[in-house]
Amino acid sequence: MDIPVTRSSMPSFEEYVEEIKELWESHWLTNMGIKHKTLEEQLKKYLGVNGISLFCNGHMALEMAIQAMNLSGEVITTPFTFASTTHAIVRNGLTPVFCDINEKDYTIDVDKIETLITDKTSAIIPVHVYGNMCDVERIEKLARKYDLKVIYDAAHAFGVKYKGKSAAVYGDAAMFSFHATKVYNTIEGGAVCFESDDYGLDLYRIKNFGIRNEEVVDAVGANAKMNEFQAAMGICNLRHLDEEIAKRKIAHDIYIEQLKGIKGLYLPQQQENVESNYAYFPIRINENEFGMSRDALYLYLKEHGVFSRKYFYPLTNSFECYRDKFDVEKTPVALSVSNEVLTLPLYAELSEADVKKICKIIAQRAKA
Ligand SMILES: *Cc1c(COP(=O)(O)O)cnc(C)c1O
Repeated sequence: MDIPVTRSSMPSFEEYVEEIKELWESHWLTNMGIKHKTLEEQLKKYLGVNGISLFCNGHMALEMAIQAMNLSGEVITTPFTFASTTHAIVRNGLTPVFCDINEKDYTIDVDKIETLITDKTSAIIPVHVYGNMCDVERIEKLARKYDLKVIYDAAHAFGVKYKGKSAAVYGDAAMFSFHATKVYNTIEGGAVCFESDDYGLDLYRIKNFGIRNEEVVDAVGANAKMNEFQAAMGICNLRHLDEEIAKRKIAHDIYIEQLKGIKGLYLPQQQENVESNYAYFPIRINENEFGMSRDALYLYLKEHGVFSRKYFYPLTNSFECYRDKFDVEKTPVALSVSNEVLTLPLYAELSEADVKKICKIIAQRAKA
């Protein structure tokens, strides 16, 4: 039996059907209906935030989080991320300035941010990679010092806590993705969390065509609303989230136990003061020590029915669509990590036997 890299979490069929039954009575399918309102309230409580706005997907949530911030000029970000982060900046007419990442947890290297700040810089958009938290405290200090906005791409960090607080409370705004492949899903979906009510109102208008009221349209918005079926899925999945994360942790711990003795593998590290959501299991392969390259291991696993993912590879600053615009040599750590990293299968239903099987295949190939 093949082992996929991920598998979406779903409630039972009966639980979902029960949740959507009402929709056949109300015939209210989208435009901030009862399920949407219910999910917003539940998520606010779960994340401990003042404001939340739900979206049709994480990418639109990020694009609109940026639009509502009225930024200009340059935005400091990292290339070791999903296409979405960089595209959201560029599609807002802003220039991404790429900062390197640190080798330990793959988030933005806070020591290198300051030298990239110019009089054109208006914001920092860091990414909580694999559920690892960025150094939120130092980023906040820098933002205060230079009067910059901070929007976190927290797509990987739903369910992560730093010093007992959710990832949602850091920065001026934090974006989550509720895509089918994430720890928590609404099929497709996303959210922006924030403090300011005015900002929340702007987001609300922008995701609904810029409509203020029946007769006034005063923002150039688009359509990025979450519908009732997505929200209903979210309500169901939220009930099981803690259990899902606990199951992921079990698989994660077996991976660590089984792989820790193998030379040439760099495994995920527990961050201080962080409760992880075990979103991904990234390993980094040192070809000389391990005896096989990342690409070769990827293929070798595939031949054995194990599907891993080169995530994140390639770097966003080396994408075809940005050819000749950026220099990947300016982010050397990100470049080497993207050539060495592989995320192994991880999902709540991944069995102990399958994790052990994957580790055995890897161990067989490791140099003695
Ligand atoms: C998944 C993801 C997104 C985009 O979210 P979608 O819901 O798929 O649109 C953005 N950034 C990162 C880092 C992601 O992993």
